[in-house]
Amino acid sequence: MTISTLDSCRQRLWHELLKRLADIARRFPDAALASSLAAEDMVLTHAVCTSQLPLEMFTLDTGRLHSETLGMLDVIRSQYGRTLTVYRPLPQAVEQHVAAHGAFAFYESIELRKACCGIRKVEPLRRALAGRHAWITGQRRSQSQTREHLPEEEHDAAFDLRKFNPLAAWTEDDVWNVVRALGIPYNPLHDQGYPSIGCEPCTRAIRPGEDVRAGRWWWESSASRECGLHAANTKLPPLAVVTRLD
Ligand code: SF4
Repeated sequence: MTISTLDSCRQRLWHELLKRLADIARRFPDAALASSLAAEDMVLTHAVCTSQLPLEMFTLDTGRLHSETLGMLDVIRSQYGRTLTVYRPLPQAVEQHVAAHGAFAFYESIELRKACCGIRKVEPLRRALAGRHAWITGQRRSQSQTREHLPEEEHDAAFDLRKFNPLAAWTEDDVWNVVRALGIPYNPLHDQGYPSIGCEPCTRAIRPGEDVRAGRWWWESSASRECGLHAANTKLPPLAVVTRLD
């Protein structure tokens, strides 16, 4: 299949995305794509690589990811010849947290869950974004109620830089139609009931009819299901406060 097999609406979405990313690269040469290696981020990766945009791409290896997710790094390298920069948590911070609270403390309380996310995700993200003026994410409005007002461009107050969400208006069907039309590689977990993929112990497959993010931190209420990477979605305080959760 090719882009020509898509309906005209989705062809327009794709071409607008390419223009949007090229515009971001022109305005912010140090902008980086933060990839979770999920389908949305693979759409963005495909767009960046096939357009040969000089945008850096990075991911956060929390140390608790599925092997299928980590395997996408090799897929990207072999398919596009590009290597993602991988940021990992500080070993000492992880060791101290696990020693104090256990390896599965995230099930015990929202505070301990956010502390784990703070160590394994937010702090590495802070390093990944240090010195940059913009970052790009694969968030979409229809993914959850915490994202329903997501703008395509915003000021990220938590990290004090521009933040772009070029897929904000895309639907789940838009993503998958483009993935299939362009033959974009994707995490095999998506075919096993995981529309949204995070850390292995904090993600489950969803049941028919459930919200696409229902499998993320499923033991919590839907209003708290963000990890601190996108603080504006949950009105979380700035990073300086987030990191004090530990
Ligand atoms: S998603 Fe779960 S394992 Fe991953 S950083 Fe957050 S609490 Fe820790």
